[in-house]
Parts: sequence; structure tokens; C-alpha cells
Amino acid sequence: MFDELKTAVSHLREVSSRINVDVIDGKSAAELVRISEEARRVIEGLRTSAIGRVGTTEAWRVGGSKNSAEWVALHTGTPIYEAQAVVILAGQLRHLPQTVEAMSSGKISTAQAVEVARAATAEPHAEERLLNLAKSSTVRTLRDEASRVIAAATDEVERHKRIHKNRCLKTWTGQDGAFNLKALMTVANGALVMAALKPLQDEIFKAARKSGNHETPEAYAADALMALCDAKTASTTKTTRPNVVMNIRVDLGAINRGHSEHGEICEIAGVGPIPVATAKEYLGEAFLKLLIVDGVDIKTVAHMGRHIPAPLRTAIEERDRVCQVPTCDMTTGLEIDHIKPFAEGGAASLENLVRLCKRHHHQKTHDGYRLVKIKPQRLEKPATGARIKTNDSTPPWAWRAPPDTG
Ligand SMILES: [Zn+2]
Repeated sequence: MFDELKTAVSHLREVSSRINVDVIDGKSAAELVRISEEARRVIEGLRTSAIGRVGTTEAWRVGGSKNSAEWVALHTGTPIYEAQAVVILAGQLRHLPQTVEAMSSGKISTAQAVEVARAATAEPHAEERLLNLAKSSTVRTLRDEASRVIAAATDEVERHKRIHKNRCLKTWTGQDGAFNLKALMTVANGALVMAALKPLQDEIFKAARKSGNHETPEAYAADALMALCDAKTASTTKTTRPNVVMNIRVDLGAINRGHSEHGEICEIAGVGPIPVATAKEYLGEAFLKLLIVDGVDIKTVAHMGRHIPAPLRTAIEERDRVCQVPTCDMTTGLEIDHIKPFAEGGAASLENLVRLCKRHHHQKTHDGYRLVKIKPQRLEKPATGARIKTNDSTPPWAWRAPPDTG
């Protein structure tokens, strides 16, 4: 069976092997893409129909596959999600002969067929109109129109309920080590999410623009989500136990005693005072950097080397919440700069370290810009160890351009 088809495939294979793509010019390459696409459509149309037939005849049971999709994945070397998509398409196409014809004759691509099929399944009368649209529009336009057709054809309340039932938030770590987050919810709930993110995103965007940074809106949206999480963590630490990094600053005496006395510190940095008992609770339950004020006097921590000890780094992060160039209000991607460069013997100390945004750090390191002290360091000297005052937010520095640029 299919001898003629098999011969055609061998012939096709033989002809393609004689084409040396590396030596053809651009115009011919474009022509080759068009021809290949034509061939692909014919074959994909046939393949999809055949997969549909394997489904209805239950031929997939031979060999012990669980279902059609698993069989397709196994026998065609495709990932399961792709196999599932083609099985769904094949099932829908059984009732859509016009779409099958358009696909087999190469008038539409598989991606277009997917859109027509999902809409025409919900609203059969739309099939012809969508097929016509497919000939003259992008897949994106077709997809939007298909979604509209489906929305109009299905009961709104039902659809809302179904989407809500399928709501989910998934996270995973990709092969590149990046954290991924994907959420599915009703548009109404999605709007709530975006309403919460938007003002923060705008703020971050404005701050970035002001300091000359240009990144994508998507990048700023991610920053906004982080800002939201920060704010949320700050406002709910009393009632929930978020699994986040918090800087808890507590005097050693207070933690040993179980409560604080005469001006001892027990607080979540940047949030406010907490009972010692709560601090102890968090110590067991959250991943945190513990800064025992009595244990390490951060003012005296000076390290001759590039390495910045963790308590010192924490102290600087607390002190310099924004880029310390007075005109700059960048809060993201701040880097720690040695005011007197490390190469010139500058120490890693509270006095000699400052946080700058990427751009200002680069200017200072490479373009001759300087930070000049114009008022005393924002430090007070409490009775119980080092404590950093953070209520004065004006940086104590002036930003000087290199002499040759004025
Ligand atoms: Zn800056």
C-alpha cells in the first residue's frame, strides 16, 4: 500500500540531496523556502488526517500506548505537548471537511488550521469566513478573530467559570537556571494583577528614564512584581511567615534574654521593630541574614581586599537604598563601589563603600567622575553597637564630572 507515495517521497529525498543550499543565492533561497513550505503543507495535511485515523481506529493501542498522543510522540519523535496538539486538531478536523481540504491543498498552514479548527468547532458557521481570512492575514490576526468567534459562541458565565476552575500559577527552573513563572486566570482577575503592577511599573520606568536607562517594558514589569512582593512582605510580616530573605537586626543581649531592654534593637531592617519572640520565630522559619548588632560592629569591619564581608554588605544595602549620586533615584541593579579604588588601597569598609547604579558606577570607574563628600556620613553612635540612621535620605555626596569635560 502507498507504493506511489513512497516512491514520491524517495524521489523527493533524492532531488533534495542534490541541492547544495550553501552555494545558492538569496533569491533562490527564498524560492526554496516557498517550495519547501508547499511540500510541507501537503505532507502535514496528510499526516494530520492519518493521525486522526489512528485515533478513530484505535490503532494506537497496538504496542501498549496509553492514548493517541503518546503513540504519536513515540512514533514521530515529537514532544508530548506537540503530539497532544496535533491529536486535538485531527479530532476537530473530522467535522471540518473544508478546513481539511484547505490544508491538504496547501492553501493554509498547520498553524492557521489550528486557529480555524478551534473556532469552527465552537461555531461551525464561521469556518468558511475564517478560511478566507486565513488567506489574507497573519496567524496573529486569525488567532484574535478565532478567539472572538469562540467568545461569542460560548456562554460567558460558563466560560468565566471554566477558566476560573482551571486557574493556576506554575513555577519552574529552566535549563538555563532561570526562574519561570506562568499564571492562568480570568481576565477580571488578570486586570487586578495588572492594576497592582502598573503604577509600580510606571514609577520604575520613569526612574530608569531619568537616569538614562532603557530596558524593555517587560523587564520593568518584572521589577514591578518584585516591588509588589517587597511591599507585600513588609505589610504582612506580622500575620504570615513568608519564605523570603529578611534582614533582622537584633542585639545579642536581647536575643539571649528573650526581650529587649533600654534601647536595644530588635527589628526587621526597613520594616520596623518586632518583638524578640517574633524574631526568634522567624529565625527558625525564614531564610535570613542575621545581623547581630552587638556581635559585629559594622563600623569597624574593614577588609583589605575586593571581598566585602556579608554583614558589611547588608549594612551598605540598608544605608544606600538608592544610587548615591544625588540626582539619581535608581533603586534596582545597584552595585557597590569602592570610593577610593581597591587598586589604590581603598578598603572594603563602611566609610569607603557606596552603592551606585550601573551607569554611574561605570562613569566613576572608567570616565573620571568622582564622589566628593559634602556632609558627614549618616551614622549615629548608639550605646549598643553600630546603628545606621536611614531617615535622612539625601546622599552626603556631590557628583563631580572629570576636569576635561567641565
Ligand atoms: Zn545613579
